[in-house]
Amino acid sequence: MKLISCNNCGAEKFSFILEKESSLNELFTVVKCKKCGLVQVNPQPTFEEVGKYYSDEYFTKRTDRGYDNYYSDKIKNEIERVFTLNLQDLGFFEWEKTLYAGRSTIDVGCAAGYFVNFLRNRGWDASGIEIAEGPVNFARKELGLNVFRNDFLEWDTGFSQKFDLITLWASIEHLHKPKETLKKIFKHLRPGGRIIVSTCRYGILAKIRGKNWRYMNVPEHLYYYSLKGLISQCEGIGFKLESRLTYGSGMTSRKDASLFFRLSKYFLDRFVKITNQGDMMALMFKKEN
Ligand SMILES: [Zn+2]
Repeated sequence: MKLISCNNCGAEKFSFILEKESSLNELFTVVKCKKCGLVQVNPQPTFEEVGKYYSDEYFTKRTDRGYDNYYSDKIKNEIERVFTLNLQDLGFFEWEKTLYAGRSTIDVGCAAGYFVNFLRNRGWDASGIEIAEGPVNFARKELGLNVFRNDFLEWDTGFSQKFDLITLWASIEHLHKPKETLKKIFKHLRPGGRIIVSTCRYGILAKIRGKNWRYMNVPEHLYYYSLKGLISQCEGIGFKLESRLTYGSGMTSRKDASLFFRLSKYFLDRFVKITNQGDMMALMFKKEN
C-alpha cells in the first residue's frame, strides 16, 4: 500500500469520505482531493497487489462486484445492448459514417473483446489491449480477435501507430494512472479522432448511497470521477468535448420483480437520464485537427 499524490492535480491533501472492506476483507480508505475534488482510494494497493482481485473468478463467479459468467451469451448481449445505446446517444454512428474504409480502433481494457468484435463486424480494423489473462484468451480463441496482453502504458508502439478511435469502456476507474493513460491515448489518436470514456459517475446517487453505492468497489475501482471533474481532466489534456450522457438509477431488475418495482425502475431510470443525475456516464471527446 502506498500513499499517493492526486493523480489529476498532484496535490497531497485529502478529506476522508469512507472506509470499506474489499471482497478479501482488507480495509481501504476512500478520500477526496482537497484541491480538485477527485475521489480516490488512498493509500493505494500497488499494481502487483491488485492482481489477486482479478483472478478468473472475477469474470466467472457471481458476486456483488464481479460478473456472473462474463463469457455467457446473456452477459455479452447485455453489454452490447448498453454500449449500442451509449453510442447512439453520443452521436457515434453519425461520426462513423464520415470515416474512410480501413478506419482503426483500439479498446483499452477490452476484457473479452466484445466491443472489439462489434466494431470489427462493422468494418473497423479493430484491436484491444487487456491485462487479465482469462479474457484475453477468450477474445483470441473464441472470437479470433487481435488483442494484446499488456498494460497500455507499457505497450510500446514507438508512438508510430495512430487510431481513429480509442475507447475506455468502464476501465478508467480501474487504472492506477488514468491521467497518464489519457495523455498516451491523446498521442495515439489521429487529428480528428475520438475517444469514448465510460465510467461510474460520482454524483448525487453515489453521495446518498455512500459505501453501499453499487460502484463503490474497493480496490478494483481506484478512482471515482464526477461528470465535471472528468470533463475538466480530459479538456486539460487537449480533448474537446463532443457529447456526453449519464444514465442508470442503481435499481437492478430481477426476473421476479413486481410490476410496481419494474415501473419504479422505468421511471427512476428515465428521471435520472432526463435530469442528468445517472450514476453511469459516457463521454465522447475529439482530438482537433
Ligand atoms: Zn487533485
